Amino acid sequence: MQTLNEIVIASHNQGKIREIRDLLEPLGVRIFSAVDLDLEEPEETEGSFAGNARLKALAAARSTGKPALSDDSGLAVDALDGAPGIYSARWASVPLVEGGGRDFTMAMWRVWDQIKDAKSPKTAGFICALCLAFPNGDTEVYEGKVEGEIIWPPRGQKGFGYDPIFLARGDARTFAEIDPAEKHAKSHRADAFNKFLNARFPS
Ligand code: IMP
Repeated sequence: MQTLNEIVIASHNQGKIREIRDLLEPLGVRIFSAVDLDLEEPEETEGSFAGNARLKALAAARSTGKPALSDDSGLAVDALDGAPGIYSARWASVPLVEGGGRDFTMAMWRVWDQIKDAKSPKTAGFICALCLAFPNGDTEVYEGKVEGEIIWPPRGQKGFGYDPIFLARGDARTFAEIDPAEKHAKSHRADAFNKFLNARFPS
């Protein structure tokens, strides 16, 4: 098994970089991010979370010569047949902003507008595919999920993306109202991460 004492986080999303860094640093792994290394973001051309995660991790591993870990994730709403899904970031894109802006208030409203008349609870899940890729082209994918429902209006200032409208099953507070440590313990990313840790850092 190839060793892992340094990892490039193949993401430009500050929310994801922060969460992945928090999860990996306690393991003594040296972390770089695609932002620190000024890496280009490949276009996400695949039709699945796993496919896009693989594409991003391989691009970062090949251009840096280091192992790279990517995250492709998103919100899947049952009443929308799994949308926005792999298009979760694109639902927030504001094309007229220079450099490609994102407006998650608009994206959350878009979701709500399309499901407000659907029956309650308005079930949904966050899905995460993590891919670890090596410069020689080897890849490993780990997938995680957290189930819950969409609520309106948005609540909370913590977290990122669609967190203010997502209530994990059994919770009274949204992912944007709970502390990051509490989110790390139960999120889709944590679920995928636990699979990655069990495979790569067994205790
Ligand atoms: P991508 O994986 O870079 O295509 O982007 C995934 C998008 O899904 C992010 O920009 C967020 O909008 C959303 N997303 C993924 N994980 C989370 C999360 O933990 N909380 C809130 N939104 C998320």
